[in-house]
Amino acid sequence: MLDNSARKELEQRKDDFISMASHELRNPLTALKLQTTLLHRQLGKQGLQASALSSMETQINKVTRLVEELLDVSKIKAGGLEYVRESVDLDALLGEIVSTMQQTHLSHRIQVHGAVQTNLMADRDRLGQVFTNLISNAIKYSPGAETVEIDLSTSENAVTIRVKDYGLGIPREQRDKIFDRFYRVTDPKQKATHGLGMGLYIVAEIVKHYGGTITVESEPGKGSTFQVMLPCKRT
Ligand code: ADP
Repeated sequence: MLDNSARKELEQRKDDFISMASHELRNPLTALKLQTTLLHRQLGKQGLQASALSSMETQINKVTRLVEELLDVSKIKAGGLEYVRESVDLDALLGEIVSTMQQTHLSHRIQVHGAVQTNLMADRDRLGQVFTNLISNAIKYSPGAETVEIDLSTSENAVTIRVKDYGLGIPREQRDKIFDRFYRVTDPKQKATHGLGMGLYIVAEIVKHYGGTITVESEPGKGSTFQVMLPCKRT
């Protein structure tokens, strides 16, 4: 059995490892990305070689996203993410994200209902991370259910974004844990999906940073709805 201080030391060493590994992985990835972009420019967009290069770029982007998430997770543990302050048009941001995701996920139809008609002083990329994660989870965890719905609404001092899917759902006893670092639902039906359990941990951290809340309603076999509320001052 480990005593408390040995456990803490081990935990710290794991955190340090995650931080170092993500930094070490980022540099070669950046170099790879640069080189494929250059090659693409030379080869043009047509032909077998160009299409092989496109697949390589897709894979590089996937690994880059994972490494960025690992970096975010270690930053959160080490004192917090960095945020810039800018005026963010939430409807425009969501519109862009939905249209990009719709192009790459033809299996689902992403429907947006309503609008928030609100600009928030916040970090555009960080808010983008919140919405991208929730929408991509809704798609990933609803194989065979083609609709993902996004409901937007505004009240006096908050905006609400709801992301609803008709997929696998989350067992009741695991609902609180999905926001923990590296937690993945253990249900056998979810085994086929890939992931490392970082997305919702980062999402919850960003929402908390802005003084908001994130909650989930879910029924196994029927689907899940994630609700984000962000406080806003009407101007
Ligand atoms: P992952 O990379 O594993 O998807 P997340 O942190 O985004 O990591 O999610 C944590 C876990 O929560 C997932 O592994 C999955 O089990 C569960 N989960 C998240 N979103 C949904 C959803 N829309 N429907 C069902 N389960 C979900």
